[in-house]
Amino acid sequence: MSAARASRFVRAGAPRNIGVSFEFFPPKTAEMEHALWEAIGRLAPLKPNFVSVTYGAGGSTRERTHATVKRILAETMLTPAAHLTCVAATRTDVDEVIAAYAQAGVRHIVALRGDPPGGAGERYAPHPGGYRNAADLVAGIRRVADMEVSVSAYPEKHPDSPSVAADIDMLKAKVDAGATRAMTQFFFENSLYFRYLDRVRASGITIPIVPGILPVQNFKQTKNFAALCGASVPDWLAERFDGLEDDPTTRKLIAAAVAAEQVLDLVDHGVTDFHFYTMNRADLVYAICHLLGLRSGDTHGAPAALSDAEKERA
Ligand SMILES: Cc1cc2nc3c(=O)[nH]c(=O)nc-3n(C[C@H](O)[C@H](O)[C@H](O)COP(=O)(O)OP(=O)(O)OC[C@H]3O[C@@H](n4cnc5c(N)ncnc54)[C@H](O)[C@@H]3O)c2cc1C
Repeated sequence: MSAARASRFVRAGAPRNIGVSFEFFPPKTAEMEHALWEAIGRLAPLKPNFVSVTYGAGGSTRERTHATVKRILAETMLTPAAHLTCVAATRTDVDEVIAAYAQAGVRHIVALRGDPPGGAGERYAPHPGGYRNAADLVAGIRRVADMEVSVSAYPEKHPDSPSVAADIDMLKAKVDAGATRAMTQFFFENSLYFRYLDRVRASGITIPIVPGILPVQNFKQTKNFAALCGASVPDWLAERFDGLEDDPTTRKLIAAAVAAEQVLDLVDHGVTDFHFYTMNRADLVYAICHLLGLRSGDTHGAPAALSDAEKERA
């Protein structure tokens, strides 16, 4: 008889043993804003532990990230986490952003070095008066405000990093500076995540290393993005999407199947927390969360969006 699979035992209504977080990006246009809030409205009742909002390259979305985070605070009961990078900014500038978040009631920052202003692949040079890297930024945040700080982790190593060992040294520096959670870059082979996790644990790092899951909304875009950030795209994945360029309906079904297979296998191997790169779209993420036993209106876990009545009272 085959061994029982843990993923068969995630149940709606059971005390929550699965935790999720959702990542969004700040919208550029009114139409994108509408799409974002539709996605938030759909996903909020699943009561994620937190929702995070990215910070555009070189701080280009500083205002929009702030506005989105503030609106989440004002209009939902979700816990927002604001991403922040130290690219092309002085410490004073960055400290001002941190202080403004603290003032607005934000209690969680995702601290990142960020990509060079010329884009990933260029050589990174810290701003002369700025934070040198992500670990330095984590320390800065802890100095300026009482905040939870999450950071990035790279199962396939960051492209700038000479080795996995150097990469894990950087993760350790971020933890030593005060980070209490890492979310990984997306990956498609779970063995890469588990191998990385073994090395991270062997180096004495004990914080949660939450797998970052990217449901493949658009294969071509995913492939281009993966090439930039050093994530591998296996041949079998390309094969699964092959020939579906003009068939969005089947593409979506395949994307759901691929993500479901990945996530359930992670659960079978003991993973309980997931960070979803939503790309501001709810449908695939919602379906995968459903498979994980998460239900709208679940009484366990974090609170959902405010009802209209609650909004009026707030
Ligand atoms: C969960 C997650 C969220 C993200 N959110 C955003 C976001 O909101 N906005 C955004 O712009 N980007 C974001 N990124 C991308 C990130 O900014 C880039 O990958 C960036 O290049 C590295 O930032 P970091 O904080 O991950 O780097 P770090 O953790 O500081 O570095 C990553 C690795 O690169 C190596 N390294 C770094 N600097 C050097 C150097 N000078 N020389 C040699 N090796 C070096 C180190 O070994 C280190 O392990 C995100 C990434 C992840 C995984």
